[in-house]
Amino acid sequence: MKQLPMYIDGKAHRHASGRWIDSHDPYTGRAWAQIAQGDAADVEFAVQAADAAFRSGPWQQMNASQRGLLLHRVGELIARDAAQLAKLEVQDNGKLIAEMSGQLHYVPQWYYYFGGLADKVQGDAIPLDKKGYFNFTRHEPLGVVAVITPWNSPLLILSWKLAPALAAGCTVVIKPSEFASASTLAFVRLFEEAGFPPGVVNVVTGYGRDVGAALVEHTLVKKISFTGSDETGRHINAQAARQFKRVSLELGGKSPNIVFEDANLDDAVNGAVSGILAATGQTCIAGSRLLLQRSIHDEFTQRLIALAKTARMGDPQSHDTQVGPVTTQPQLDKIMAYIEVAKAEGATLALGGARADRPECGSGWFVEPTVFTGVHNGMRIAQEEVFGPVLSIIPFDDEDEAVKIANDTRYGLGAAVWTSDIGRAIRMSERIQSGTVWINTYRAVSYMSPFGGYKDSGVGRENGIDALKEYLQVKSVWINTGAQTANPFVMR
Ligand code: NAD
Repeated sequence: MKQLPMYIDGKAHRHASGRWIDSHDPYTGRAWAQIAQGDAADVEFAVQAADAAFRSGPWQQMNASQRGLLLHRVGELIARDAAQLAKLEVQDNGKLIAEMSGQLHYVPQWYYYFGGLADKVQGDAIPLDKKGYFNFTRHEPLGVVAVITPWNSPLLILSWKLAPALAAGCTVVIKPSEFASASTLAFVRLFEEAGFPPGVVNVVTGYGRDVGAALVEHTLVKKISFTGSDETGRHINAQAARQFKRVSLELGGKSPNIVFEDANLDDAVNGAVSGILAATGQTCIAGSRLLLQRSIHDEFTQRLIALAKTARMGDPQSHDTQVGPVTTQPQLDKIMAYIEVAKAEGATLALGGARADRPECGSGWFVEPTVFTGVHNGMRIAQEEVFGPVLSIIPFDDEDEAVKIANDTRYGLGAAVWTSDIGRAIRMSERIQSGTVWINTYRAVSYMSPFGGYKDSGVGRENGIDALKEYLQVKSVWINTGAQTANPFVMR
């Protein structure tokens, strides 16, 4: 079987433990490659390389325009290899080729955008209240950044972090998910080809408890940028706080998809299906709570179920497939357990509810699109993130009730409102506690627009100009241009 070594300091790295972890193809359930099982010794090696690259050598010598040019160059190489990288991601995480290839063709934009911003980072001259001083600010890179990613969209999520970190002048050690590391290992080679100096971008593979934890605790790592579960995010936050490290955390969601009776129902049905079945529900912004105004509840539910029933399941590498497998065996077990939880809580199973038993699904990890009606927002199925194709439908009467249900969750990542009333759309967007609110659409994201969580959904923002600030720190510089120290014992 193919063995994929780590990548540290510009070359393949022979890992200390000598152990390997199987990587599975979710469509067959079979191992297709092995990744190196790293540990604290490999982390030490990678962080030292990243720290050395940050402090001295060509990266440190480069000006911001030169860094921007490298980012542009790597964007072009990603565009060149997008099709190949997409295939690799599908093999590793089972998401649809149509989706991953769309993502990979879009990923270069992060490098062009942040490459363009690299030399626009500038401080201010502060018009001080004190005479005899000139004061200005500098925005300086934080240093070594640990980027810890999940398995659902490895290269897109990585790029949301890597592009601004490099534009800021940081160096990076990446810890991809142990379930889907292959695409990241191929991806970082493009940085070498683009001309990034050794040590600027490094990858250590392995388990979170070994590699991830060692990165978070390493004193030379100044910032952790993480996407994954809220349990792990909480743990990382607590560990990082002990050394006052910066964190960006993109965590879970239980996003409300709210349909009013005045909405264009054809669009809203499509939006509801895309909210829960796209990526087989394995996205942090899955519209897993469908809030339906009572007057349209029955008709909408029927139309949604009719559309969900037509979903073509099967080989994710085929462009015709609409719903692929779930990515990991533990994720499959988690989804099936939540289906039992919902039934036990008294929700009504209106569609699916079982592993898919269709010839086109072979031995893969497939779950039938599943819909529960009669869900109350207090149920676990309405409060906890399933991360699978399981939809909970909750009725409401009016705007106030919709807002109350939408906000009655510890999460706040995404939300959508379907209505033809512009006033209602704006009122709802003001009242919903969520980092993103979509009106008459679902799941739109861009490198230009900030993305992140309210409440337990996270800390910090990715994408857009503000994302760059997550990797910078501000220094205030004071120059005495003629101020006299009248009394050295008193601060002025
Ligand atoms: P996870 O939190 O277990 O793992 C995410 C990453 O963190 C992996 O690389 C993992 O190895 C690493 N990690 C685990 N323990 C760590 C530790 N103690 N210290 C440092 N790093 C550690 O999540 P997952 O297995 O990738 O996905 C599981 C759940 O995460 C999903 O069911 C879903 O709820 C959530 N998720 C959220 C998002 C999002 O964008 N918000 C994306 C993917 C997954």
